Amino acid sequence: MSLFRPKKILKIFTDLDIPRYREQGFEMVLLDVDNTIAAPNTGSCDERARKFILDLQKAGFKVVIFSNNNEKRVKMFLGDLKADYWYLAMKPLPCSYLAVCKKMHVKPSKTIVMGDQLITDILGANLSGCYGIYCKQLQEKDSKMTAFNRRIEKFIWRNVLHEEV
Ligand SMILES: [Mg+2]
Repeated sequence: MSLFRPKKILKIFTDLDIPRYREQGFEMVLLDVDNTIAAPNTGSCDERARKFILDLQKAGFKVVIFSNNNEKRVKMFLGDLKADYWYLAMKPLPCSYLAVCKKMHVKPSKTIVMGDQLITDILGANLSGCYGIYCKQLQEKDSKMTAFNRRIEKFIWRNVLHEEV
């Protein structure tokens, strides 16, 4: 199986069937920020994202905001929302995924990772034994670095995963 292949593809993060994944025994969700649950680099935690995070917590999930961006950006997103967070995650390197799992006392096999990039979020999920769920990017607009990644991802979708997303 390709290390780039997500376990599931969602049109948008709010499509996650929260009760179903709880029933399956998952205990934690690591949430990417930029272009997964907020506009890239500027978006704060809007009502939709806030409700989603609270719904996850109410269902019994541990939630960790898990971003490659810096602390300032992650705090800007969170505002007054209370959630654990991890910045400069260096996705796709598995070390941060494994460190979060250890800190939160949850096995990688019980951890869902949601993100909009195959070559960071999903690759890291697969390398660390987490369950990677790909969420389509919220906006077409990306940072320069992400725009570059996006071109590589198009190639992967077409030539490695043989899917049109
Ligand atoms: Mg992202």
